[in-house]
Amino acid sequence: MYDTIVTPAEIVVVGAGMVAHRFVESLLSRAQTPLHVTVIGDEGRRPYDRIGLPRIASGGAAEDLELDRSVFEDFRVRFLDDDRALRIDRAARTVMTRSRVVVPYDTLVLATGSYTPIFAVEGADLPGCFSDRTIDDVEALAQFAAGRRRSLGRRLRAAVVGRGSHGAELAAALHDIDVVSTLVEHSESRISHLVPEESGAVGAVRFDDGETEAVDLVVLSVHPRPRDELARNANLQVAERGGVVIDDRCTTSDPHILAIGEVARFDGRCVPRVAPGYAMAEVAASRILGGDAVFLGFDQPFSGSRTPGHDDPTAGEESTAVIVIGELAESGMLRLASSRIAKGVG
Ligand SMILES: Cc1cc2nc3c(=O)[nH]c(=O)nc-3n(C[C@H](O)[C@H](O)[C@H](O)COP(=O)(O)OP(=O)(O)OC[C@H]3O[C@@H](n4cnc5c(N)ncnc54)[C@H](O)[C@@H]3O)c2cc1C
Repeated sequence: MYDTIVTPAEIVVVGAGMVAHRFVESLLSRAQTPLHVTVIGDEGRRPYDRIGLPRIASGGAAEDLELDRSVFEDFRVRFLDDDRALRIDRAARTVMTRSRVVVPYDTLVLATGSYTPIFAVEGADLPGCFSDRTIDDVEALAQFAAGRRRSLGRRLRAAVVGRGSHGAELAAALHDIDVVSTLVEHSESRISHLVPEESGAVGAVRFDDGETEAVDLVVLSVHPRPRDELARNANLQVAERGGVVIDDRCTTSDPHILAIGEVARFDGRCVPRVAPGYAMAEVAASRILGGDAVFLGFDQPFSGSRTPGHDDPTAGEESTAVIVIGELAESGMLRLASSRIAKGVG
């Protein structure tokens, strides 16, 4: 008698962020039948804790943020760690990468996350302006700050342009390296332009009302947008405001393609928080293995969340308040950060 040969299911994951990591971990731990997982990531790194990025700004090591590496070292996983998925051929069920690798799939999982949009203000491309989405971004910021402090020989001043807790956490981290920050809530409409100083680097923020704030660096921590271009080009249903539309099984408009994490739009919303992404990862893993889990929506209480933050019901809208650091104490959400910053202001 011959053994039955079971062909392993081919699962391809695009994106190697926090949610992809949770998905692969969950899939491998549940799988009773053979499968192969190919993960394509374009950061040239293993998955890491993006929430911990402010720690890099205050001098922490990138290695300390790495997530459990055993997940991607499992014999069932192939990790293309410095490649980018460029095209999905839905008819052939393949993904083609930047380095011309063609990967066939039975199920494709999009976990491409978000990007920080270009800040549409004159001067946003000056040296000294940074975003805070990746380790590379934040390492570049920390390196610039160290060089600038050496050349100026004094404490630095920064403007952190961002929303709520993200910006405040970064401001707190900058305080740890002796940079005093002003937090400017996402405010393209309030910032008129960024002014260069003699060296050509950013030297001031000019506001619409004519006020100018002298700064030595600017961090643009503005509201992220879903990285949905791959899905868009493959003619999957993508919302006009961005985000790959999924149902409660995390399935896109193509039944062979799922989307999870920040790139996924459920019930008209994308939420830039990791806990719902983890919930989607569990649902996707269960579904692929024949389970019946459903994503209950963004308002469910998320268990097992490692997040210090919380969902922002105004996500996607723009606000224009300018908050000087000392005033942050009035916000319960920002208390931790503000008390640390307040110490450095006096
Ligand atoms: C500074 C900061 C602080 C934060 N703080 C909090 C917090 O306190 N609480 C909270 O809940 N959340 C927080 N977040 C948000 C949280 O980090 C995200 O919700 C989470 O990382 C989303 O995971 P993801 O896997 O969906 O996307 P991502 O982490 O963005 O990962 C997506 C990955 O896919 C890669 N990718 C994209 N397209 C392709 C492609 N075509 N080919 C190959 N790879 C591709 C990207 O480069 C990236 O590596 C914070 C984020 C930042 C930046």
